[in-house]
Amino acid sequence: MKIAVYPGSFDPVTNGHLNIIERASRLFDQVIVCVMVNCEKKPLFSLEERKNQLRRVTRHLANVTVDAYDGLLAEYARERGCCTIVKGLRAGSDFEKEFQMAMVNRKLNPDLDSLFLTAEHQYMYLSSSAVKEMGYYGADLSDFLPSQIMDEFEERMKKIANMKEAQP
Ligand code: ADP
Repeated sequence: MKIAVYPGSFDPVTNGHLNIIERASRLFDQVIVCVMVNCEKKPLFSLEERKNQLRRVTRHLANVTVDAYDGLLAEYARERGCCTIVKGLRAGSDFEKEFQMAMVNRKLNPDLDSLFLTAEHQYMYLSSSAVKEMGYYGADLSDFLPSQIMDEFEERMKKIANMKEAQP
């Protein structure tokens, strides 16, 4: 059984992430989407919220499960019997960092390979941070965020805007 792990912070999950998950689910028997908690900045959504969002948007994919891990990805892959790390590769920004991480993970776990799926053209420049920035200023995000999480996202944005207004 070929199991892949797709790691990230998913704060929040975007249509770019979902596109990678759907394509990976066609390539592997099982895909674990793993929210990595170790090297995080201050997230907009809690770990539980992000896991729930991922579960909601992947409900139609029978071979996809959602998990979280605080530790080294290479170790997680070993524990869960994953043969491959799946990553999305966007225009420009991702390559250097991802290449380095792939080297490190292979050194830590020589049985583990990294597989890069190129981003779909319409998501090439999409990131969770861009979505947060656009959302804060009220942009229409229907092309970028899965519909199942739109209400939750908009509410969180409103809450943040209200908090900022209330500050002296
Ligand atoms: P970000 O916060 O930059 O959106 P994450 O850490 O959540 O990124 O990303 C997890 C994985 O998903 C990484 O491999 C990243 O390259 C990939 N990814 C992120 N956004 C996209 C996208 N729009 N298209 C394809 N892959 C993506």
